[in-house]
Amino acid sequence: MLPLTAQGTLDLSQLDTLLDTRTRLLAVAQVSNVLGSENSLETLIARARAVGCAVLVDGAQAVMHQRVDVQALDCDFYAFSGHKIYGPSGIGVLYAKHALLNAMPPWEGGGAMIRDVSLTQGTRYADAPWRFEAGSPNTCGIMGLGAALDYVSAIGLDAIHDYETALMHYALDALSTVPDIILYGPAEQKGVIDFNLGKYHAYDVGSFLDQYGIAIRTGHHCAMPLMAHYGVPSMCRASLAVYTTREEIDRLVAGLQRIHRLLEG
Ligand SMILES: *Cc1c(COP(=O)(O)O)cnc(C)c1O
Repeated sequence: MLPLTAQGTLDLSQLDTLLDTRTRLLAVAQVSNVLGSENSLETLIARARAVGCAVLVDGAQAVMHQRVDVQALDCDFYAFSGHKIYGPSGIGVLYAKHALLNAMPPWEGGGAMIRDVSLTQGTRYADAPWRFEAGSPNTCGIMGLGAALDYVSAIGLDAIHDYETALMHYALDALSTVPDIILYGPAEQKGVIDFNLGKYHAYDVGSFLDQYGIAIRTGHHCAMPLMAHYGVPSMCRASLAVYTTREEIDRLVAGLQRIHRLLEG
């Protein structure tokens, strides 16, 4: 595990000690689901290449915010979830380089993944990707995810990136005016803003905001080691998306100011 810097980014100075020719796979998130920080994939992938290590990128928090080119990145695997890009849950995408896919055996059996089966000659599997897609496909999910990708493509990922970048700057500026707010993460963030309001537990802040019509996520965000790094049990997380407006940011900020006034008496 790569340690974190004080700013909450990956400490790449440890890379050469942790990554060597015995490392089989480097798994890394492109964008953190807590801090919104973007990891330096170019550096990480180049260093992994140098020691012959494969790289899996978790792009679940990146694909909806910006254009991603897996060939330019030269990662071996790239994964993302359908529901993070406005599609259905229970489906996602795993990109993998063809040569790696064909070198790997199937991991489960089922319909439509064989080439031929014989009781005397044995079984031969279909080529990738079909050999990994055992059983009836999740057709509803595929159609829903396809519609979501069409939706995002019609707006354009570059337009989404520009809109969200400006919105993020607006939101960070506006939130920094809230008394006693603690903002986590680096100055340049993507998609999510994690914060705490003074000493108040994130659950309390989230419950108040809910009463004001603002939905945020509260808790450890499936990242307990990161909570430990900051010495807090939980954080509040506001997510920005392509459909988020400045008026909604203003309501969030006004809600937090109101909570602060109420609790501080
Ligand atoms: C949401 C998320 C996951 C988990 O994906 P699910 O499809 O919800 O299981 C993994 N990694 C990151 C970075 C995420 O944001």
